[in-house]
This record gives sequence, C-alpha cells and structure tokens, in this order.
Amino acid sequence: FVVLGVESSCDDTAAAVINSDGTILGECRVSQDQLTEEWGGVVPHVARDAHADAIQHVIESSLRDASMLPSDLDAIGVTMGPGLEVCLRVGYRAARALALKHDTEFVAINHLEAHVLVSRATKTAENIQFPFLTLLVSGGHCQLLMAYDVAQYEVLGGTLDDALGEAYDKTARLLGLQVGGGGGPALEKLARKGNPKAIPFPVPMHRRPDCNFSFAGLKTSVRVAIDKLGGDEQVQTDQSLMADIAASFQETAVRHLEQRVTRAMQLCDDRGTGVNTLVVSGGVAANAVIRTRLESVCATQGWSCSIPPMNLCTDNGVMVAWAAVERLRRGIADDHTNLDVRARWPLAGLGQLSEPLPE
Ligand code: ATP
Ligand code: FE
Repeated sequence: FVVLGVESSCDDTAAAVINSDGTILGECRVSQDQLTEEWGGVVPHVARDAHADAIQHVIESSLRDASMLPSDLDAIGVTMGPGLEVCLRVGYRAARALALKHDTEFVAINHLEAHVLVSRATKTAENIQFPFLTLLVSGGHCQLLMAYDVAQYEVLGGTLDDALGEAYDKTARLLGLQVGGGGGPALEKLARKGNPKAIPFPVPMHRRPDCNFSFAGLKTSVRVAIDKLGGDEQVQTDQSLMADIAASFQETAVRHLEQRVTRAMQLCDDRGTGVNTLVVSGGVAANAVIRTRLESVCATQGWSCSIPPMNLCTDNGVMVAWAAVERLRRGIADDHTNLDVRARWPLAGLGQLSEPLPE
C-alpha cells in the first residue's frame, strides 16, 4: 500500500509518499532555517504561518514526485505531537481534509516514535527486530529507551535539563556562529578543525551510573571558558581557539553519550534480555562524529548498530509515513474526526492518540 506522511511539529514542513516496503516515492521539505536565524529561535506564531504557507506545496510536490493523486493514497499519517500545538494543527488540518475528501485511512503519529522507527524503513536495516535499545537524540529530547514493539516503549533514562540538540544549538550561539542551517551542523563543522583535547571539560555525571543525561553544566563550562579566555570578542576573532572550544564541547558530549549507552547495554545484559541492537535516532544522529563513536562502542560490546541515513535523522515526512505503515500493519488506525494535537506526548505508555495519557 501507499502512504503519505505529513510533518509540521517544529520548524520544518515536510511530506513524503512511500510504499509499505519503505521505498520513497516522493518527498518534499521546506525548512524555516532563515526565519529561525532571524528571530533567534522558533517563535510559535511565526513558525505556524510559515507552515501554513508551505503545507500544500510539500504535500502536492511529494505526490507529484510519486506521480500520484490524493485518491491513490491508501493511508495518511500525520504528526500529532509532541511539538508546538499551533504548528501541529497546520499539518493535522491539511491531512484531515485530504482524508475526509478521499475517504482515506488516517493514522495519528507520535513524532518521537517516527524518529525511532524510521531505521526499520531502510533496506539495509531489514534485520532490526524488536526488541532493541534506542538512543533518541534530537532538538527537544535525549532519551535511552527499550523498544519492545510499535507503541511499546520503556524509558531507561532521559535528560535532567537540556536535550543534546538544544545543547549544540545553545553552544553554537554562545560561540556567535551563524546558525541558519542549524546550530548542530555549524558547531560540528567548526569542531572538525579543532583539538578535542584542548579544553578538558568535565564529563557530566560520570560518577552516577544511571541512564540519565545532563548538558546544562557543559554549556556553562563553555561559557566560563570563553570568559576566562578573554570574553566573546577576544575569542571570536581567534578561529583556531573557537575550533578548539567547539571540538572540546563535542568530545565531552560524545563521551557522556558513550558512557550512558554503555551503561544501558549493561542493563540489558543484567536483565538477560538478549537484546544486542542499538538504534540511534533523532536530528543529532546526523552528526558524523557521534555516528562513528557510537558505532565503535557497539563494535566493542559486540552489538550491532543502526543509524538512519543522515537525511532521515532530522525531521522529515518519510519517518511519519513509515510510522503509519508500522501502525497499519498492526491494525492501528485512528478516527480523524475528533482528535486534537498534543504538545506533550511521551513515548512511555504511548498507545494511540485517542487513549488518555497514563497518570
Ligand atoms: P524533537 O524531535 O525532539 O521534537 P526537533 O524535531 O526540533 O526536536 P530534530 O529535527 O529531530 O529536532 O533535530 C534537530 C536538532 O538536531 C537541532 O537541535 C540540531 O542542532 C541538531 N542537529 C542536526 N544536525 C546535527 C549535527 N550534525 N550535529 C549535532 N546536532 C545536530
Ligand atoms: Fe524531530
């Protein structure tokens, strides 16, 4: 069957048409990077208007790519949360209108589940069977989870303060980088020219053997280091110093990830789960250093590692369409007429949108 996925939860408007085997037939994304740069962040009503301007275009263009008409679609999946409500509603309304008009099956998608499941859509990942361990690292989330099946997740740990993507974005701003294409990619690029051992920032919570994360302290360490090195102006005129700070930040963040992932793997072993696959997902999984380092943690531990192709890590329509495929295969669809979007919609106790959140 053929599925359309629609995404508008944050600052990317995206759609894709895929086959139930994961083949991408058509895809389109419009990013709001320019606006985010101008406003110094995502402003809900600005983002909502940009989604409203782009939503028909991304849907039509992905259908055109696929040489399909809306009436050819077997199902429509749309992100209903978590995210900015005013933005989510733009995607929901467009998807609902299409589903109503053509009497198409409708699936309410959790954005985080879409990030996690997209690994299973790619051909090379045919062997990713449930249950698996997953590290979700994105702009709003940093979690280690057990994925038992579609809609069945257990949170092993989460961040006590900032998400990793957020830490990259904030640190990029601290360094005065142009963050139009995203703070993460800008910082990663700068870090390539620096020495990761130049500044030994403390690795967060390295004595606490749990699966939680913390990145706020690291961001503060960067602030303090900049001040010690002579302040913003002084530091920003010295490109090699800037690169060293970026590389040292990244090194510390990666070591924190390595420690937490290793800990979660131990937990899987202690419980005798037999799980030995790690899936890394979310926008930050597009980072080349993070990809390589987590792959080698897996290699050392005898685990297999799966990370989606970079273009499927950051927000996209394919992951939403694929999450719909996975749900439809298990007989899960939703009644599109009486739903509303959810700003908060955690993976623990996920279920369906029509079900109330667990206490
Ligand atoms: P969430 O998925 O939690 O709702 P989001 O959808 O806004 O948040 P994503 O699109 O999944 O987030 O990821 C965007 C985040 O990923 C941004 O914070 C961005 O800086 C970060 N990111 C993207 N590419 C890279 C990279 N190469 N290195 C580090 N961080 C990156
Ligand atoms: Fe996302």
